[in-house]
Formats: sequence, structure tokens, C-alpha cells
Amino acid sequence: MVVVFQIIMALLLIVLIILISFRIGRPKHHTPLPENYKELLNDYVKFYRALTEENKEAFEKRVEQFLSGVKITGVQAEVEDLDKILIAAGAVIPVFAILDWQYMNLHEVLLYPGAFNADFDQHGTDRNIAGMVGTGPLQNVMVLTKWQLRQGFIHADSNRNTAIHEFVHLVDKMDGTTDGVPEIILERKYTERWKQLMNETIMQMKTEGSDIDMYAATNTAEFFAVIAEYFFEQPGLLQQYHPELFEMLERIFQTRKLQTFL
Ligand SMILES: [Zn+2]
Repeated sequence: MVVVFQIIMALLLIVLIILISFRIGRPKHHTPLPENYKELLNDYVKFYRALTEENKEAFEKRVEQFLSGVKITGVQAEVEDLDKILIAAGAVIPVFAILDWQYMNLHEVLLYPGAFNADFDQHGTDRNIAGMVGTGPLQNVMVLTKWQLRQGFIHADSNRNTAIHEFVHLVDKMDGTTDGVPEIILERKYTERWKQLMNETIMQMKTEGSDIDMYAATNTAEFFAVIAEYFFEQPGLLQQYHPELFEMLERIFQTRKLQTFL
């Protein structure tokens, strides 16, 4: 009788250990990978389509890793498989060439149906914000709108992409300040020239106008996010019209390693 009791207790203990370790091992934030993710990437993500087979595989792995650590929550919007893949692609594209990159500063993405204002009220008159990196109580949270998210990937000929824009803000923020200088990935010897180049281009935009979206002239943080959209969406045009900006962005995002980038 005592032996039976001991066996039962031992079995219970084993079950308990398995349950506890399963809970601890499971990531706190998680979004399941859609089954047809390769098809979605191929149909909607130009950057992915241009990669070599080997890099495509690496990209898929990064998408899977991103989704396994981040929760995507719809706010009056249904989070469809396509939205999950586009959010993950927007996250992976800017840091794809940077090995071992992790968005330490992101746990959750909130997906709204349309534009929202700065108080996250969808019914106000000032519904003009397409995406946002949270601060204060929304630290580690990013807000995107479904409509803008999709527009960025559907219009392959534009130089705008809201998801890339917001993730570049996160890359910039990783060193503690969102100022357009991503010190964590840009070699120190180039930071002064990068600051100068941003300010010179902003001045030039204000006086002469530009093919770069005027929102970039708001400040250096917005400049960096907007010019990164242009860089990843239309690298050939950026290289042609703004060779020095292109060269610096190649340094920042380390894309020279990707033979098929242009
Ligand atoms: Zn911005």
C-alpha cells in the first residue's frame, strides 16, 4: 500500500514538473504563424520576392521568430493572417541584414481598422495618424492601422510603408533616444556625418522641395523613418537621386551583404 502511494506521489510530482516547465518555457507573447505564410510573403512582400532562395528561408525564420515573441491584438479590427505576415515583414525588413537583431522594446502590436488620433480615439476629427510607437503606459506597444499597413505593401511603386516606418522608429529608440541616429547599429565614426546629412537634406527640402515625403522635414527622427521607407521601397530611385543618403543607409542597415537588394 505504501509503495503504491509512493508511486502515485512520484507520478504526480512528475506531472507537476512537466506542467510548470511547460508554462515557464512558453513565451508570454505569441502569435501563431499562418499556415500559408510563404504564399502570403511571395504575393505581397516585394523585398522577400527579390531575395535568393537561401535568404528567403532566413527571412521566413525571422518572421516566425518575430511572431513567436509578439502579440498582435485587433482593436475593433479582425487580425487576419495577411495582417500578421505584413506586420512581421515590416519588422524584419529593416533589420534583416543585421544578424541576431531582437526588438527588445516591443511586446504587442495593436491593430486599428483606420486612422486614429493621438488619444487613440477612432471617432475624433483628427484621424490622421497611421501608426505610432507607444510611450508611457503604452511602452513596448506599437499601434498600426490595418488600412495603412496593407497600402504600404500593395502599392509596390510608392516609397511609403507605414510598418517599416514604425519599426525603424523602434530601431532608432533602442539606444534610448529617438533622434534619427541609431547608435546601436551605426558605427561611431559615421554618426557626425549622418547628423549633418539629415539636417542638410531637411534644410534643402524646406527651401527647394523634394521627392522625399515632406513629413521627413518634421525632425531628424521622422526624417530617418521616412528615408528608410524610401530606401527599402525604392532603393534604385534613392540611389539615383540621393546617392550619399543611399550609401549611409546601406551602412546603417548593412544591406550590402544582400546581393539581390537593388
Ligand atoms: Zn514617425
